[in-house]
Amino acid sequence: MKVLVTGGAGYIGSHTCLALLAQGHEVVVFDNFSNSKPEVLRRLEQISGTAIACVEGDVCDHSALHQVFSAHNFDAVIHFAGLKAVGESTANPLKYYEVNVCGSRILTEVMLAHQVHCVVFSSSATVYGTPKSVPINESFALYPANPYGHTKAMVETILRDTAAAHTALSAVLLRYFNPAGAHPSGLIGEDPKGIPNNLMPFIAQVAVGKREHLAVFGDDYPTCDGTGVRDYIHVMDLAEGHVAALEQLSRQPGSHVYNLGTGCGYSVLQMLQAFEKACGKTIPYQVQARRDGDIAEYWADPGKAERELGWRAERDVAQMAADTWRWQSNNPEGF
Ligand code: NAD
Ligand code: UDP
Repeated sequence: MKVLVTGGAGYIGSHTCLALLAQGHEVVVFDNFSNSKPEVLRRLEQISGTAIACVEGDVCDHSALHQVFSAHNFDAVIHFAGLKAVGESTANPLKYYEVNVCGSRILTEVMLAHQVHCVVFSSSATVYGTPKSVPINESFALYPANPYGHTKAMVETILRDTAAAHTALSAVLLRYFNPAGAHPSGLIGEDPKGIPNNLMPFIAQVAVGKREHLAVFGDDYPTCDGTGVRDYIHVMDLAEGHVAALEQLSRQPGSHVYNLGTGCGYSVLQMLQAFEKACGKTIPYQVQARRDGDIAEYWADPGKAERELGWRAERDVAQMAADTWRWQSNNPEGF
């Protein structure tokens, strides 16, 4: 298949490009580099030995999208492009509704105008809010608790309604749990701007000496060791989940939603220990107050993806830590 990958220079998009190329698909990246660098494309070419077409553009720009759809005959789109910082979404919600919701609406309209009928969308476990129980399955009600989560739930609705109205359209909505890790080459990985919001890139920056210590946000949760528990999934497993979803789209039109997680939860301190093993260093940490809006624990029920997509996460937290460390230690300043 020839696949347009919006946000393909970003963390998950870049790893997914490699998974697509490994399965013989062709990719065209569309990215405005607001949260990534063109160097990513060079690294992808180095790893894959394949030239990668890339168009610099914004998903909110109708005419830029029309141009790229006119220049290529796409079979499908994987839509990663968007903004993802929960705190920033609370401070600047209109920016998030514009890029995440309007950008997705415009992209869907342009896809239909060019008779491209398959889309895989990056949703998030954040749409569930505080779940009534764990593990979380796809039938749970959605209670997003911040503007970022609302934008993901809204785009899911837009795609579901559009697939119902245009029966040729197939949409797969993938709810990611906590992506972590990097490609085993150590050439690409997560490269956050400024202070990392997420646990794994923060630990990696402490390990490489860029930050003094990890702040552990609360150790008084009702969990195994008092720290927050999440379902960390290796980014290459996540990437391969997209390829499985694309292949399912061609077999089954309509809209479909899947959790992409491992089904296992790990605490902050367990992740820290896994990282210490991988890098062979002690990583200093200080326990601080809980972070506003955090939930004690959640993990996925990934059974539906396994049954219907034939996909299951294979890599464990030791591999996530080892691959993150290889990327971070080889590229202390990122790309
Ligand atoms: P990322 O920021 O690394 O990648 C997003 C890419 O999209 C970047 O390359 C950025 O430059 C590009 N982009 C942003 N706005 C754009 C626009 N208007 N037009 C074109 N390109 C634009 O993020 P990521 O971690 O790779 O996440 C990818 C997707 O997955 C996002 O939609 C995110 O919300 C979703 N997601 C991420 C996580 C996570 O923890 N990383 C979890 C759940 C869902
Ligand atoms: N966390 C932490 N210190 C940090 C970043 C995160 O203790 O610097 C904790 C956070 O409270 C949560 C877990 O690590 O329990 C995962 O947080 P992250 O922001 O990576 O993902 P989230 O699940 O919030 O999307």
